Amino acid sequence: MWRLSQFSLRIIMYGQSRRPPRPLQPDPTFWRPGDSWVNEEGPRAATVCRRGHPIEITLTVAPSRDLGFCNECGAQIIGRCPTCNIRIRGMETGLVGAMTKYAPPKFCDGCGEPLPWANRQDYIYQLENLLDTEEIDQHTRLLVLEDLERLRTEADLGQDKQVEVWKRIKDRAPGLFMGSATKIVQSLITAYVSQKLGI
Ligand SMILES: [Zn+2]
Ligand SMILES: [Zn+2]
Repeated sequence: MWRLSQFSLRIIMYGQSRRPPRPLQPDPTFWRPGDSWVNEEGPRAATVCRRGHPIEITLTVAPSRDLGFCNECGAQIIGRCPTCNIRIRGMETGLVGAMTKYAPPKFCDGCGEPLPWANRQDYIYQLENLLDTEEIDQHTRLLVLEDLERLRTEADLGQDKQVEVWKRIKDRAPGLFMGSATKIVQSLITAYVSQKLGI
């Protein structure tokens, strides 16, 4: 009996040591081209809570769908961009183990959408980025940038003042009130401003 169990144990151990290595086939719905899913160059994947606390930052395999909640703040932990479903950019492979502080990206590098922990300032930065693709003359662009900067830096701007600023932006860069940009604008304005602007 003893002999038999020792024998079977050896079979189990043999089986484990001979298990073929994990196939190096990246999941294209999770990784981006140039990412690292083995010990090579490129970023690894991260899991982050919805308030922006990093949990795992050097993943080389896709995390499970149910990641539970953050120990620090209780927010849900996510491992994919909620918009396009790819990985959240983690630590660069070359920096793993170095005394470098990791900060989760504010925007998804796959689809450009803000991640859940992006704040008001980050959203306005995103509008500034979108403004670059608007077909408007440089003079108008600078005026819109000025107004966006105002919204970004003057947090206590009164509601009616905000309506005024947003109206100017809408007249000069109507593209910021169309398509995916609308979502960003809507998350930046109150119901009152939204009603006044008619969006
Ligand atoms: Zn948290
Ligand atoms: Zn995305």
